[in-house]
Amino acid sequence: MNDFDAFSFDRFPKTPFLPDVPLERWTPDDGDRDEFFMRAALVEAQIAAEEGETPIGAVLVCQNRILVREHNRRERLCDPTAHAETLALSRASAFYPSWRIEDAELFVTLEPCPMCAGALVLSRVNRVVFGTRDPKAGCAGSLMNLLTEERFNWRCEVVEGVLRDDCADLLRRFFRERRQANAAARKSPS
Ligand SMILES: [Zn+2]
Repeated sequence: MNDFDAFSFDRFPKTPFLPDVPLERWTPDDGDRDEFFMRAALVEAQIAAEEGETPIGAVLVCQNRILVREHNRRERLCDPTAHAETLALSRASAFYPSWRIEDAELFVTLEPCPMCAGALVLSRVNRVVFGTRDPKAGCAGSLMNLLTEERFNWRCEVVEGVLRDDCADLLRRFFRERRQANAAARKSPS
């Protein structure tokens, strides 16, 4: 093998370096594939709620395995860019030999915002599956669709509505409880 072959093989392998730990894997025995991975994203969203964050969770899937699990951490990190999707892409990039997150699918409980939709296109993610729409900021069909925009040089396959009610209920419950807590705090200032 000459130097060039060694370089091209080491630097640009076709598949990502999967971490050397057991990864949760979907098999046909697990039932509906998209629902299986969305349930994992919902677990992350629940963790976000318990941390006082808006409950949004995401998992990045490669070859039927969950490579990364993440949730919204905007409050904790005091970082407006710390959405579940961007955090998942950043962590997943550690396993890939370049900035391209190829052969990957992202499952997220809420429709991606413009920042995350842009990051998903730039990452070259193949497929994006989301649970419920975000009529105020969603850029995968609600306000616009950056994921399928013809003028970009990459388009993602988009599937929406997987476990929609579960994803939406988690958000509704979180905001209702927060409104109640704020109202109670106003009534009895300590
Ligand atoms: Zn976002």
